[in-house]
Amino acid sequence: RAREEQRFARARPVTRARLDEGAEPWLAGVPMHWMRDWPSPFPLVVHRAEKARIEDVDGIEIDDFCLGDTGSMFGHSPPPVARAIRRQARRGLTYMLPSDATLRVGALIRQVFGPMLWQMTLSATDANRHALRVARAVTGRRKVLVFNGCYHGTLEDTMVTCHQGRTVARPGLVGQVLDIAAEAICVEFNDLAAVEAALATGEVAAVLTEPVMTNSCMVLPEAGFHDGLRQLTRHHGTLLILDETHTQSSGLGGYRRVHSLSPDLYVIGKCVAGGIPTGLWGMTPEVAERFAAYDLDRPEGHSGMGTTLSGNPLQVAALEATLSEVMTAKAHDRMERGALRLAAGLEGVIARRALPWHVVRVGARVEFICAPGPLRNGAEAALAHAPEVEAALHLGLLNRGCLIAPFHNMMLVSPVTKTRQIDRLIAAFDEILSELTP
Ligand code: PLP
Repeated sequence: RAREEQRFARARPVTRARLDEGAEPWLAGVPMHWMRDWPSPFPLVVHRAEKARIEDVDGIEIDDFCLGDTGSMFGHSPPPVARAIRRQARRGLTYMLPSDATLRVGALIRQVFGPMLWQMTLSATDANRHALRVARAVTGRRKVLVFNGCYHGTLEDTMVTCHQGRTVARPGLVGQVLDIAAEAICVEFNDLAAVEAALATGEVAAVLTEPVMTNSCMVLPEAGFHDGLRQLTRHHGTLLILDETHTQSSGLGGYRRVHSLSPDLYVIGKCVAGGIPTGLWGMTPEVAERFAAYDLDRPEGHSGMGTTLSGNPLQVAALEATLSEVMTAKAHDRMERGALRLAAGLEGVIARRALPWHVVRVGARVEFICAPGPLRNGAEAALAHAPEVEAALHLGLLNRGCLIAPFHNMMLVSPVTKTRQIDRLIAAFDEILSELTP
């Protein structure tokens, strides 16, 4: 790792000079707190990005497999999105009113993601917040059940973890005001018995889950897990919220459409408007009806839903362009083919070196995990790390021109990722491992 740190630093005189002048990258307008875990003594500072490549301020070109941690899953600045934004920029940036494009985009959203009642937000965090509020309102219950190791944005009541059988706030949660145990229940993924025990209390408004865990290591649902969740939630009058912020990589319409899941509320974020800040949340007609009835009972109306800039014309333009021209079945096919090649290449390297590691893939999303698999849940995922080796690998890959997600071993293949970029990543992985495990 030390050797890779020196290599990284040597190659970046401009970055170093700027930091020496006192520039603070994580205060310069971007709350990049995660950079403290970045595997190098100083960050990568981007100058520009295009397709699946970024160029840093030192003029070094890097193949980007992180792709904004899914925000740019379809490549940087997809041309239809860039054109739509330029067009819209001449017609107003915020109206706080629907436009003709909003009406068109509603139809597109339903076409791709299903016949729900949809709302727009500026982030997936906000979409989850609103979905959860509706679930609490219509069930009249308070608690949310989440799975250990999942992440749904910075909602305080989902920033929880399991500790010795209890639900506690995540370590390091800043400025916590809620009584976490009164708001949330945290159990392990793939543990239907624990879900049933929690739901049987009759206090749980919603189960909020990703279809595949993506925020610790990738953990796949076991056979029958999603069916079981659906049955248990229905039986106990709990709503099921599916957060597909990361799993749009699964294919067109997300994991839900590919695997025919039927949640009550559905959340998307990050890539859905081609990189322009946008979240979507939808409720089924049944939930919408219950919400309308809840509303009718309240002559004072409701508050706490929506934000001023949500649904602004810029995001609507980006969303329309993404859904109609970028996020297509053809694009997903390309991504999946590339991801298959990447996963097979990494598996080959791991097998040749007889490492006890494994590779997981969900559509265009690939991850190598430095432990044997398959993993069942967050507790196992938390142990499935080799932090020093992973830090050396991340930096080593960067030094060989490949960026993967800095906080897990995640790689995304976009429709504009070239085969030679994939092959370079596999070769770099092999080369670093040959130095680490000669
Ligand atoms: N949901 C999931 C599954 C996520 O992984 C994330 C962020 O990583 C979020 C929600 C929150 O997204 P954002 O930070 O864009 O609000």
